[in-house]
Amino acid sequence: MKVIWGKEIIDRDKVNIDFEDRGYQFGDGVYEVIRIYNHTYFCVDEHIDRFFTSAEKIEMRMPLTKAELKALITDLLRESAVKNGSIYIQMTRGNASPRDHSYPSQDVVPLLTGSITASERKIDKMKNGMRTTLEDDIRWLRCDIKMISLLGNIMLKHEAHKKNADEAILHRGDIITECSSSNVAMVKDGAIYTHPDGNLILPGITKIVWKSCAEKLNIPVYEQAFTTEELLNADEVFISSTTKEVMPISKIDDKTFDVSKKGSITRLLQSCYEKEIVKQCGE
Ligand code: PMP
Repeated sequence: MKVIWGKEIIDRDKVNIDFEDRGYQFGDGVYEVIRIYNHTYFCVDEHIDRFFTSAEKIEMRMPLTKAELKALITDLLRESAVKNGSIYIQMTRGNASPRDHSYPSQDVVPLLTGSITASERKIDKMKNGMRTTLEDDIRWLRCDIKMISLLGNIMLKHEAHKKNADEAILHRGDIITECSSSNVAMVKDGAIYTHPDGNLILPGITKIVWKSCAEKLNIPVYEQAFTTEELLNADEVFISSTTKEVMPISKIDDKTFDVSKKGSITRLLQSCYEKEIVKQCGE
């Protein structure tokens, strides 16, 4: 298996990462997941832009340009036999010894790694919906940074899994923010509501796509906070992420939602999203 390591593409078993790498010791790094359909990447420029923005927010100097990163990803994709799956890239602040909380000098070169994994679209769940639970958003106050320190997110996902659900919908006090690894939106009286971007949520790339779908379909989108009670009284709830696409929610704790309705807003967004996949990646 070929992987990105620094500015090269090498065999996975040649990768050599020091145990004092700051990603390993501090979770000091950022990442992206880019979907591949039909051997082609989806929304790659948007993901690269967010990767650079995340790095900038933690004052991490990028050792390559956006064009160089895209070329590396393109080369990796060409080397790979994966038809459908995702590309994972991460950049840590590099190997600085001895261990010290302070950011190291700018001479320490951040370490880029990347790999491709095969996975199919979650067609069954996209049809039948995902089950979710409501969990207290215990994460920090910079959820806008796509960082590799994901302990809060994984603890919350684990809580949902323990309750036999697929995903955790998070709230801070009364306000719904996002999910452990996706954004969340609700539909009420023909309009879509979702938490505004800012420090409490990750600005989702999938959200950019479904928002443009909503615009084409003349469905109003309000990026404004809503409460747990409003969520539970919604007509439809859906979540979105690179790997889940537009995913209907069939259950939030004990409350069920009928996802079988034809012509619902979630279904309209799903079919528009599929058209966008075909447009960018072919059939
Ligand atoms: N919020 C969180 C916490 C996430 O981990 C993700 C998935 N990366 C998202 C939202 C959705 O982002 P995207 O649509 O870019 O995958």
